[in-house]
Amino acid sequence: MPHLHRLTQIRRPLIARSIALLTAFCVMLVGIHGWSLWAAHQGQLAETTASTANMARALAAQAETSFKIADAILGETVERVEHDGAQGTAGQRLHERFMSFAGHSTEVQGLFVFGADGSRLVSAPISTARDNNADRDYFKYHQTHADRGSHVGKPVRSRSTGVMVIPVSRRIDRPDGSFGGIALVTLDLGYFGRFYDRFDVGSEGTILLALDDGTLIYRRPFNESMVGTSIAQGPVIQMMRKSGPVGTAMLRARIDGIERLYSYRHLEGYPLVVASAQSKEEILAHWWSSVLKMSGVVLGAILLLGWGGVRMIRQIRVREQLEAELRRAGDTLEQQNQALKTLAESDGLTGLANRRLFEEALAGELARARRAGTSFALILCDVDFFKKYNDRYGHVGGDDCLRRVAAAIAAGARRPGDLAARYGGEEFAVLLPDTTLEGARTVAEAIRTTIAGLAIEHADSPAGRVGMSLGVVAGTPGAEAGSAWIEAADRLLYEAKSGGRDQVVAKPVSLAIA
Ligand code: GH3
Ligand code: MG
Ligand code: MG
Repeated sequence: MPHLHRLTQIRRPLIARSIALLTAFCVMLVGIHGWSLWAAHQGQLAETTASTANMARALAAQAETSFKIADAILGETVERVEHDGAQGTAGQRLHERFMSFAGHSTEVQGLFVFGADGSRLVSAPISTARDNNADRDYFKYHQTHADRGSHVGKPVRSRSTGVMVIPVSRRIDRPDGSFGGIALVTLDLGYFGRFYDRFDVGSEGTILLALDDGTLIYRRPFNESMVGTSIAQGPVIQMMRKSGPVGTAMLRARIDGIERLYSYRHLEGYPLVVASAQSKEEILAHWWSSVLKMSGVVLGAILLLGWGGVRMIRQIRVREQLEAELRRAGDTLEQQNQALKTLAESDGLTGLANRRLFEEALAGELARARRAGTSFALILCDVDFFKKYNDRYGHVGGDDCLRRVAAAIAAGARRPGDLAARYGGEEFAVLLPDTTLEGARTVAEAIRTTIAGLAIEHADSPAGRVGMSLGVVAGTPGAEAGSAWIEAADRLLYEAKSGGRDQVVAKPVSLAIA
């Protein structure tokens, strides 16, 4: 079954190919998975970068509005006080103006005018707290600085209301340019806090407002003790000093060591900076959960593929085993068939071809020689005085003699096309294709000589040994049947017998067939 051999040869690399294909598929799957996770990671960061930058913009806009309001009030107040003073009717009018401002803007917590000695001249709402603010930092600042712009101070607890406020102040000059006091607007820190609380920055995120020098004004989550402390060494101020008024970067905070995506923005026209930040861990929390889920799915797919692959390979192996068994069974069958054929075509005693095969071969070889126009020869031979041999040496001895004679005949028919057969009893036949009469006579003579040379004792024969008579007929076959050739050879064999036995009689077919 040669086709099965071929199938197996194809199938061996099939297993290797299947494994390679499955492995490649798994590697591809992991690669695509890794790539998509990486892309999602980058996408998440980019999205958050944009949203924190937007948040910083919104925070800056809100703070700018508040400081502009304070600035406007201060501008007007300073102008009025320098022109009209803050006593008497002017003071009363200023107070009313202050009350109107305070009622209209939520972020403005209080409005004040202090004299050169720090005494409160005008205020809204009306305060019952201590009257002198000469000790405040912003007061001291204006006392010692001649600039006329607004000054944003670090947050303080209001003496009039007790809440945390951001002081925004301006210097009031006397006509001679000397220090005449200050105008002060306090912004409610809580207002900023409430605004900042509206943004979602996660539990580890932060929003902060600070002065340029790093003085912290507000930080979410709010902790009062941090107000006024310096974050000059922190990531936001450091980044701003390096990269300018607007920026976004992933940085690690000094305070808690948490890595955050920071986005900051410097206010236009004010020495303030706002920043918002979200922790990297929280930004990527959703991404991480999808990493876990997707990796689970991919792992499941790989396991399924592996399981399917193992099953498939196992099935291929089982099929291979079955095929091998089938092949073995086929081989055995073939051998048995061959044995049966040999059995059916050979003679049991001598191992030569039997009469059936001989007659088939004779017909075939005659037809072939006829077609090809070549010479063909047939030898028919018979052991001399074999009846007597049997009588003297017994049937078993006779069989033994026949085996030896047969071996001598087989040795004489040496060419691949030659065929030695047991014709029946102690008679044998030899087919010699492509052989002339002379060639056949030589072969016959050789067989006779070999048998004589065996010197098998035969006491009841004239020569004292076993001899053989042979009839040889040869030539290009005509239309005659195989039986005609056998009869012709048999006649010549009879001539050899009657001519004294232990001899060869050979004649061309044209003469032998009457
Ligand atoms: P001839 O020289 O004229 O051939 O004399 P012969 O004795 O050989 O005469 P014949 O051919 O009539 O004798 C054949 C004998 O061979 C008859 C039989 O006893 C014997 N014989 C035939 N087949 C076998 C066999 O298979 N084994 C044995 N031992 N003897 C056989
Ligand atoms: Mg005989
Ligand atoms: Mg005989």
